[in-house]
Amino acid sequence: MVTRITSLFLLVSISLLVSYCMNKSEEKTGATASEANALLQKWEGPYNGVPPFDKVEVSLFLPAFEAAMTENRNEIAEIASNKAAPTFANTIEALEKAGTTLKRVQAIYEVWKNNRSTPELEAIQTTMEPRLAAFADSITQNAALFARIEAVNNDPAKKNLTPEQQRLLWRYHTNFVLKGAKLDPASKEKVAAINQQLAGLFAKFSQNQLADESDKYLELTSEKDLDGLPEDLRAAAAEAAAGKNKSGTWIIANTRSSIEPFLTYANRRDLREKAWRMFINRGDNGDANDNNALVTQILQLRAERAKLLGYPTHAHWRLADKMAQTPEKAMQLLEAVWTPAVGRVKEEVKDMQQLADKAGDKIKIEPWDYRYYAEKVRKARYDLDQDEVKQYLQLEKLREGMFFVAGELFNFAFEQVTDVPVFHPDVRVYKVTDKTSGQQVGMWYFDPYAREGKRSGAWMTAYREQETLNGNITTIVSNNCNFIKGKPGEPVLISWEDAETLFHEFGHALHGLNSKVTYPLLSGTNTATDYVEFPSQILERWLSTPEVLQKYALHYKTGQPIPQALVDKINNASKFNQGFATVELIASALIDMKLHLAGSAKIDPDAFEKENLAALGMPSEIVMRHRTPQFGHIFADDGYSAGYYSYLWSDVLSADAYEAFTEAG
Ligand SMILES: [Zn+2]
Repeated sequence: MVTRITSLFLLVSISLLVSYCMNKSEEKTGATASEANALLQKWEGPYNGVPPFDKVEVSLFLPAFEAAMTENRNEIAEIASNKAAPTFANTIEALEKAGTTLKRVQAIYEVWKNNRSTPELEAIQTTMEPRLAAFADSITQNAALFARIEAVNNDPAKKNLTPEQQRLLWRYHTNFVLKGAKLDPASKEKVAAINQQLAGLFAKFSQNQLADESDKYLELTSEKDLDGLPEDLRAAAAEAAAGKNKSGTWIIANTRSSIEPFLTYANRRDLREKAWRMFINRGDNGDANDNNALVTQILQLRAERAKLLGYPTHAHWRLADKMAQTPEKAMQLLEAVWTPAVGRVKEEVKDMQQLADKAGDKIKIEPWDYRYYAEKVRKARYDLDQDEVKQYLQLEKLREGMFFVAGELFNFAFEQVTDVPVFHPDVRVYKVTDKTSGQQVGMWYFDPYAREGKRSGAWMTAYREQETLNGNITTIVSNNCNFIKGKPGEPVLISWEDAETLFHEFGHALHGLNSKVTYPLLSGTNTATDYVEFPSQILERWLSTPEVLQKYALHYKTGQPIPQALVDKINNASKFNQGFATVELIASALIDMKLHLAGSAKIDPDAFEKENLAALGMPSEIVMRHRTPQFGHIFADDGYSAGYYSYLWSDVLSADAYEAFTEAG
């Protein structure tokens, strides 16, 4: 079952974007700025060129976007007004070649947005997101352009295109139609207005969430408050406090990577409850960062847009080009797993309650007790101590283990390079080559640690897609996580779950590095959302192989490999607590789907969540993994909206595939 939920943030496919109307003075600003603006320059330097992170100033973003959009608008105008009859080459391929400057600007902007956010950057986001949405619509709604795409698509000669070209043509045509290319002008205008409004609301939603995760925290002031916390958690909390100029205290940040270990180990039940409430109420505190009203608006706008586009609901629209095809099919899968998972939770709670009763704790298991008592049951039943396991899970050794797996599976070699700019001193860069030919496959950027201004969770991004259309372009991919850095000079130890996340995200990176296509739109992880989690979930499974564990799971003090007895315990306990992991995931997926199947009803997110979870029989000891007001997967953009089921969908695929693989040897 699913134990990992992480996010993959696909870059908006800018190659699809076109003209944006600017007034003359703006155009002038753009033109002047373009001469010196570092963000507009081709990526130079070694390794086929790399992003100029050392030259980024936040003030460069707006003029860079203006200039890049102007350039792209001109390219599109030329394609759309071509006097020659529409062909694959002068229309589809031409679109694929356009917008390269804008893609580069967007890639760097996304890095800043996700990893280095500041109030200054947020202001740019607020301005820029609606404009980028308008720009995208001006392409998909360009009637002359769509007429050409339609002509190429209807041309019987398309059967002579290569399979890859036919797929690309299908993608363009489908994207344009789904975005409303066939609508009448009045409806197009309405859709564009909605998209701009949504873009602004998405930006505000993620800014509120980031604010709640960085401004709110749990401050511990005495040894008594730390009762039960392992040494490394104390050290990390002390570091976090020092970072906030509160040396001498300990700070538990309001992020998953800090809260979950605290809930697992803290003996102080009152503090566990406090931490838990703070975390599950992100975006839901009735203050300036409250996301409920935004959610209501987003849902209504999405419903209205779906109607305009000819679909009964947003969910139907989103699933039209996915593997699942319809919300009903996705719901079937979720509901089939839901009932047995809830049954499993009841057993887990019973076990925990018995243990608590036996210990004379005089409590009834509440949500803030789940991780704490689950850990105790795990110890009692499987003699497995997560903290003992952690001593063998050194972040850097595991990274070497991932490189080993990539070498075995894909013949890749990784070599650290220090001659390229990074956006933070903690970021490391690796050149990836084919072991046999020595040829460069791509670059892998690794940004492991949590910091202020960085969004929570773990994800993969492609700064540049592999393609051969504009020359032999190799990819640049990145993995970003939120591990706690701990004391300087000491190895960073991570939990088994975090190690799985690390491998999961690296699986996305390998997906990108394995890309061998002609066209950027088909490159790397640009696949259906309900397929994209498949390669990453497959790679997770390599963590627990003997080859990896014996060589790379080494004790941080003795250097000894993890004992087989401990590995056996991990394997024996691998199904443990799966009720919890599955229910918190599916609850989020079901609410996501139900919110987006509800149509134009005006929804109060808290009430909707409560009612629907009650109707589903949600166990009172668990909350959704992502409650509605903090569900960035589905409200920070359209990406995973009506698509959170993908994690379960891909898990089913990857379980089948892994079995096939291991059976075949
Ligand atoms: Zn993923």
